[in-house]
Amino acid sequence: MERVFNFSAGPSMLPEEVLQRAAAEMLCYEDSGMSVMEMSHRSPVYEKIIADAETLLRQVMKIPANYKVLFLQGGASTQFAAVPLNLLRFSGKADYILSGQFSTKAYQEAQKYGDIFAVASSRDGNFSYVPKTQRQDFRADADYVHICYNNTIYGTKFSYIPETGNIPLVADMSSCILSEPFDVSKFGVIYAGAQKNMAPAGLTVVIIREDLLGYARPDTPAMLDYKLMADNGSMYNTPPCYCIYVAKLVYEWILSLGGLQSMKERNEKKANLLYDYLDSQNYYIAPVQKESRSMMNVTFVTGNVDLDKKFAAQASERGLKNLKGHRSVGGMRASIYNAMPYEGVEKLVAFMKEFAANNPKGE
Ligand SMILES: *Cc1c(COP(=O)(O)O)cnc(C)c1O
Repeated sequence: MERVFNFSAGPSMLPEEVLQRAAAEMLCYEDSGMSVMEMSHRSPVYEKIIADAETLLRQVMKIPANYKVLFLQGGASTQFAAVPLNLLRFSGKADYILSGQFSTKAYQEAQKYGDIFAVASSRDGNFSYVPKTQRQDFRADADYVHICYNNTIYGTKFSYIPETGNIPLVADMSSCILSEPFDVSKFGVIYAGAQKNMAPAGLTVVIIREDLLGYARPDTPAMLDYKLMADNGSMYNTPPCYCIYVAKLVYEWILSLGGLQSMKERNEKKANLLYDYLDSQNYYIAPVQKESRSMMNVTFVTGNVDLDKKFAAQASERGLKNLKGHRSVGGMRASIYNAMPYEGVEKLVAFMKEFAANNPKGE
């Protein structure tokens, strides 16, 4: 069977070149005589894989030398607890911007550990935009400010980096990491589950400024203690070895295509094709405010739940898979991460036109 265009929000498409390479090395990695899946994480050959993965990620994201890179497990959701456990270090206060379901979950989890304040929320607008904030909105003694940079479910993205002065900014970048260049120095912590734009599920990357390490609460589980993980080079226990290897292949693939600036151009071209079509017609509705549109997750509806259902089913028959929106919002969502080819979006737009012509809504 031919490979389909998979618009899943995550786990999602990986670059075909990466899958080919992993397949070619599946049974025997270099001259080790074994698969990466089978080797000891303490072996020199694996130690080189994880070291190279870190070096490449630093190169791709231009991560400053005073930041640690951690390869962890537990998904982004585990970070919802790890962040407050490690970073509520002075006042015990943190401010959260609520821009969707994941930032709300992060906020709720943090409430177990401190004085957590929802400084802004777009819940009233069904999370169809990202709230605006200013420096003075944040409590002066907050230990950190938390945002979710790209809201996977609603298809929104921050169009600005909140100005927090010297309060560390923590960002969940699960669904936008590696999609374009970000100035890492503007953040205290960046974390991301790998299964959207980086690797198979099972790996979580945390990028943390060194001066924020060493403040974990005494009752923090060892596995959630950033300093312990950093001191052990992400090998306090067995790391998600194979996922880290695939992530390394993805970083190499990004560099081979010209790095994050080139990723951004490719992603803009894809997203523009879809948004330009959405803006040119009135059959489909794009619920997100223009300024907050995500380049990675594009949401749209027909306004009729039966037609939405039919759309996703017929698209699937054409090899355009997983276009059904998140169960909490309905409609459609096209996730067009780095690995989605331009051709996939062209095919989607062609199908959207055809579907609209064949399924008039009437007046
Ligand atoms: C998918 C996602 C999560 C949840 O990730 P898990 O790895 O399943 O815990 C959190 N935040 C964002 C922005 C996501 O896209």
